[in-house]
Amino acid sequence: MKIAVYPGSFDPITNGHIDIIQRSRHLFDKVIVAVAHNPEKKAWFTVDERLELLKETLKDYPNVTCDSFSGLTVAYARKVGASALIRGLRAISDFENEFMMALMNRNIAPELETVFLMTSTEYTFLSSSAVKELVLFGGPVSSLVPPVVAEALARKAKERFNSEGGDKE
Ligand code: ADP
Repeated sequence: MKIAVYPGSFDPITNGHIDIIQRSRHLFDKVIVAVAHNPEKKAWFTVDERLELLKETLKDYPNVTCDSFSGLTVAYARKVGASALIRGLRAISDFENEFMMALMNRNIAPELETVFLMTSTEYTFLSSSAVKELVLFGGPVSSLVPPVVAEALARKAKERFNSEGGDKE
């Protein structure tokens, strides 16, 4: 059984991530989409919220499961018996960082391959941070994220607006 782990922040999942998941689930027997807990990164959604959105979005894909982890990605991949890590590539700008990370991971876990998949051209401009920025300024995101994510983003944007005192002015 060939298992792959697709790690990321998924803050939140976008149609670009789903495109990569669709491609990888045809290549592997099982794909584990795993939210990495990274306290260094400022997230809108908690790890549990991100995981819930992943589960809801991916519930109809039989060979895809969702999970979260903290610590090293390679340690998690070993624990779940994965032979590959999936990463998505958008543009050249992703490459340098991804290349470095893949070589670093190979150094730690030579048995684990990093597999890069290219997204559809329509999603090359799409990132979780762009979606969050768009939502904050009231832009439309329905073509960029699944409906359940669009709703969660709208709720979060409102919460953020209220907590910053935006409604009191
Ligand atoms: P990270 O913080 O680990 O980069 P992300 O959730 O932003 O987490 O992304 C996880 C993976 O998905 C990364 O490999 C990233 O390059 C890829 N990815 C993100 N958005 C897209 C997209 N629109 N198309 C293809 N891959 C993407």
